[in-house]
Amino acid sequence: MNSNKKPWPLITIYGIKERVNTNPDYQRPAVWTVAQKQMLIDSMLREYDVPKLYWRKTGTKPDRYDVVDGQQRLRAVWEFFGGSYKLPKDADHIDGEDIAGCSYELLPDEIRMKLDTYPLDVVVIDDTDEDEIREMFLRLQNGTTLRAQEKRNAYPGRMRDFVKKLSAHQFFGKVGFQNSRYTYDLIAAQLVCIELAGGPVNIKNADLNKMYKKHIDFDDKSSEAKNVNRPLSLLDKIFPEKTPELTRYNVITLYCVIAELLRQYVLDEIKNDLYRWFLNFESIKRDQEEKSEDEALPEWVSYKEKISHSTDSADSIRHRMEFMLRNLLETFPALSRKDNQRDFTHIQKITVFRRDKGVCQLGTKCDGKKLTWDDWQCDHIIPWSKGGKTTVENGQASCASCNLSKGNTL
Ligand SMILES: [Zn+2]
Repeated sequence: MNSNKKPWPLITIYGIKERVNTNPDYQRPAVWTVAQKQMLIDSMLREYDVPKLYWRKTGTKPDRYDVVDGQQRLRAVWEFFGGSYKLPKDADHIDGEDIAGCSYELLPDEIRMKLDTYPLDVVVIDDTDEDEIREMFLRLQNGTTLRAQEKRNAYPGRMRDFVKKLSAHQFFGKVGFQNSRYTYDLIAAQLVCIELAGGPVNIKNADLNKMYKKHIDFDDKSSEAKNVNRPLSLLDKIFPEKTPELTRYNVITLYCVIAELLRQYVLDEIKNDLYRWFLNFESIKRDQEEKSEDEALPEWVSYKEKISHSTDSADSIRHRMEFMLRNLLETFPALSRKDNQRDFTHIQKITVFRRDKGVCQLGTKCDGKKLTWDDWQCDHIIPWSKGGKTTVENGQASCASCNLSKGNTL
């Protein structure tokens, strides 16, 4: 690996925008808020030192680069130069000049020149391979590396053997990422960790290390072992071919979604439509990502946040799983509960509540009052006792008194 560090004027960095790829597949989508972007520009205008960028050279004549680190900073600079946002209205003067609310164009010339020539350190890495870059990316991001899985693969014990076997599951042939540095082993270990916990849980390296130690005698004929295989085999059936949308975090989310579907719903009704549903979900996601933060739907903005930060945390996984499940129930409102159970699931309730905009749909005792999440009931439109199914389609939001009086009249 060759590396070479030089200060690049911002105007030069802006000028070669088209030749710099901010989205190599190990990168995360852009997530900085406008306030964070403004803060960076403000720091540069005030001549604070800013952390250096790392680029990998991927071509010459003209030179081309992949961003290994500094994607958010880079986008913030480009967008400011391109006029996508302005400095905050309450920005302090610089050298006696008023810059409050200024776009790049409207900056006083002296100040704009200062920004144009601000020297941002760029380290250009040459002569390296994909694995080395990934390793470097992970080190720069959070100090942990994929080497952790390599170490776990050297652990003694039957959990290691089980994970190893699972990582060879046919489904991994369909995912959109490579098995470099035992990524499939890592994901397989994470899925086992989730299964053992019965749902979303922290799946960071420390959690996986603990699992390997605790389950050193893991029985690969146990029900847990079988339970891990069920969603994976179903995913293998659902996905007919290699699918680029199957990113690492999506494999984890989909595993949780499918496991939940298998536990709670009559899955046969929709099995053949799941592939199309997933591709559609991803296409909405891409559309939403192209919108500015003000135009995008708030729930997609928070979803984007959850897929961009600490995706191995219980909180992120649970949020992603619930968001996907809700989208699925909105798409298939007739999906019914297993064994014709009467209780609506948590996700069914959220889906009904949101669809009905939290308003009582009966309106016999109230006049369609606004309900709160703590105080409402999910009513079977056709009563369960009369053969009504427990589905989103047959559910409606109602207040307690309307629901009670409906019960009494039937
Ligand atoms: Zn009511």
